[in-house]
Order: sequence, then C-alpha cells, then structure tokens
Amino acid sequence: MGNQDERTKAEVPTNVSYLPRFGLDEGPVTEVHAFWLAGLSCDGCSIAAVGAQSPTVEQLITGSIPGLPKVILHHPVLSVTAGHKFMEAYHEAKNGTLGAPYVVIQEGSVADENIAEEFGGYWSAMGVTIGDDGVHTPIPTAHWLRDLAPGAAAVIAVGTCATWGGVPAAAGNLTNAMSVMDYLGKEYLSTLGLPPVNIPGCAPLGDNITETVASILMFLAGVGPLPEFDELGRPAWMFQSTVHRGCVRAGNYEEGKFADEYGQKECLVELGCWGPVVQCNMVSRGAIGHNGGCMNTGGICIGCTMPGFPDAFAPFYKAPPGTMVSSNISRSTGSFVSYLRKFTQDNQNLTSHWKKTNEVPSGWANVDGRRGLGKKTVNFFYEKLKRSGTQFTPGSKRQQELQESASRYLNKSTANNKIAAE
Ligand code: SF4
Ligand code: SF4
Repeated sequence: MGNQDERTKAEVPTNVSYLPRFGLDEGPVTEVHAFWLAGLSCDGCSIAAVGAQSPTVEQLITGSIPGLPKVILHHPVLSVTAGHKFMEAYHEAKNGTLGAPYVVIQEGSVADENIAEEFGGYWSAMGVTIGDDGVHTPIPTAHWLRDLAPGAAAVIAVGTCATWGGVPAAAGNLTNAMSVMDYLGKEYLSTLGLPPVNIPGCAPLGDNITETVASILMFLAGVGPLPEFDELGRPAWMFQSTVHRGCVRAGNYEEGKFADEYGQKECLVELGCWGPVVQCNMVSRGAIGHNGGCMNTGGICIGCTMPGFPDAFAPFYKAPPGTMVSSNISRSTGSFVSYLRKFTQDNQNLTSHWKKTNEVPSGWANVDGRRGLGKKTVNFFYEKLKRSGTQFTPGSKRQQELQESASRYLNKSTANNKIAAE
C-alpha cells in the first residue's frame, strides 16, 4: 500500500492551458450541462439538492427561471438513461465534442485510486473502458474529475466530503480520501477563471446548492455579477456568519440560561454546541422550506460545515473547552440583564387603563396588576429616561399640536368638499 499521507493531486495533467473548449462569446448561453460525480459519498448531498425549494432542481432543469440557462443534468441516480447511453455525454465533454458549456458538481471526497490500483480494484467508479480484448475496466470517478475539470466553466464541490475531505478523510481512513481542492491543487482554474467553489455541509442545505448553481449560471449567461466567494471558495453570503448569530437560542446565551439536558429550550452550548465558532446558515435559513435545522429542532452544532470535520469537533456531545470561560461570563452578566428585562416587562405589559385601576381584568388567569410605591417610583424615573431627548412621546405638547393641526386640516377639507357638492 502506498504512503497514505501523500496527496496525489499531481494526477491532473500539468500541460492543460485551462482555456475554454467552447466560445462563450458566440451568443447567449441557453443550455448548460451539469455533470454530477459521486466519489466517496453517502448520497446525502443528492437528497439535500432534490429537497431544495429556492430554487428547485425542477426549475433549473426545465429552464423556468427567466434569464437562466436550462440545466441539462447528468446524474447517476436521477437521470432516466443508464449504462453506455448515460455515459455518452461524459465522454463527449472529456473529448471536447459536447459543443456546450458545462459545470462539474462533485459529491463525496476524492479517493486515492493509486492505492486501490495496487490491489487491482477501485474505490469509486462510473462507466467503463472496453479494451481490445473486450475486457470492461471501470473508470474511477477521480479520473472523471481530473479529465472534466479543465474544460468546465466551474467545478462545484458539494458537501463537506467534497469540500474538505469530511468523514471519509477522518483519522484512520484507508483510502487517503481528499477534497476536490486538495485533488485539483492550488493552480487549478476553471474556464471562467474560478478555483473550485465549495458548498460545505453534512449534508449541505439543498437551497445553498441550487442557489449557488443558479448564481454561477446567471454569471455564465451574462445576466448577473460573479457571486462573492470567501477565502475558501464558499459563497460568502451564506457562510460569513456563525451559526450562533442566527440561532433562535442566542438570547438565552446572552442571558446566561443554559440547558443541562436535551429537550430544554435554553442554549445548548454546555451540551456540546459549537455554534459560536462555526460558519453555517442552517438555523437562519432552515433545513427545507425555511423549516427545521439543527438548533431549531433541539440539536447541537457539531461543526459539520467546517474544514477538519469530524475530527476537529470530536468528541461530540462534550462542551467545547472555550465554553467554560464564555458561558460563565454570560451567566454572571446575564443573570443581572435578565432581571432588569423581567422588571421592564412586568411594567410595560400593562395598558394605561390597567395602570390607573391597578387591575388586569383577565378571565384566563390571575394577573397581578398592582404596583407598590417602590415599583411606581422606579417606573417614574424609567419613563423620564425613556422620554428624554424627544418631543414625540404619547400625550406630549408636540403631539397635541400635531393632532390639532391635523383636525384643522380635516375640518377645512370637509367644508371645501361640502361647498363643491352644493
Ligand atoms: S445553541 Fe449553540 S448556536 Fe444556539 S445560542 Fe447556544 S451556543 Fe449559540
Ligand atoms: S448548525 Fe452545525 S451541525 Fe448543523 S448543519 Fe450547520 S454546521 Fe452542521
């Protein structure tokens, strides 16, 4: 067995000039082929993609989004053709005879086929070459990536296995699994001049996949700008923020309220949530159709979008070391902030009438509307502070002036209308 620590990115031919094999300036692009490759994958990314809602895969392949080229999708599971017929377009793209632009979408990590070759086998393959002797030899998907990448308008790595290596590249793996960018190398550029685009997640959000494909197609068709990507090739608008900033439980963190077992509504950081440092839009966007997504459904963040996952975040379900400092700071400041907020809430949750009568006439429960001298005094100063610096407060002199002016205007208009009617 070869040295598994040596990356085998040198398999990409070094004499390729990365010039387009098709003319992008020969008129509007109306169709773009998308070649889906599945390396060491669980097919979860395919399942996530077909669940996308904004846009849907159906919208992309029927060309029903105005301005967007129609996507001719070649997918080993979703395509209706099979066998040699299915593989035809792959061979045409490889040989430069497809006659249309294409993108490559890789799901799953790229295996080191040199290791498998030593044993006369392969790790993952699609299609065959037929020798003069009639022997069928499977073509490794890694070789399809190597051969299709130079002519592709874009290479899009979908899911954490394709973007960073993911689970197949975790400690102890036998395949020397690697990411698309590890395999193609730093020098790789698509015909549009793009390094590999990375959409991480295990599995990634379906909408993140289809939206990125759509935005690249818009650029390709000349109807949109080049989308903004960050230093690791992620769509910047999706991955610039941490999970924590968009988390539905972030208010609990701020007030120092932490769950000590699953099923509770408080922040999950002490149960092992890595949200404060992980870049992902799962909770703000929702898993499917703006619903679900890790913390929304009670789960912790285990950093599945990040380089180094899973090893970098393992063991799961154990509080990250930094939690000891940050959650204790939140606990000490948050308990005071939380008390002040409760006090304000108790005071503000009353109508002006209830404040006068000291009674809340609710038939649902006994609500204490009484406010003793202490509360009234604090409220007096609170109101003073709240209203200071502006004339526009309820019942103020300025408000009365505005109301009088509005009444005068209305009276005058009514009188004019009356005269006109007579
Ligand atoms: S559950 Fe996680 S992401 Fe949400 S507030 Fe707590 S630490 Fe942040
Ligand atoms: S919130 Fe965390 S665990 Fe959930 S998808 Fe995002 S990175 Fe993965």
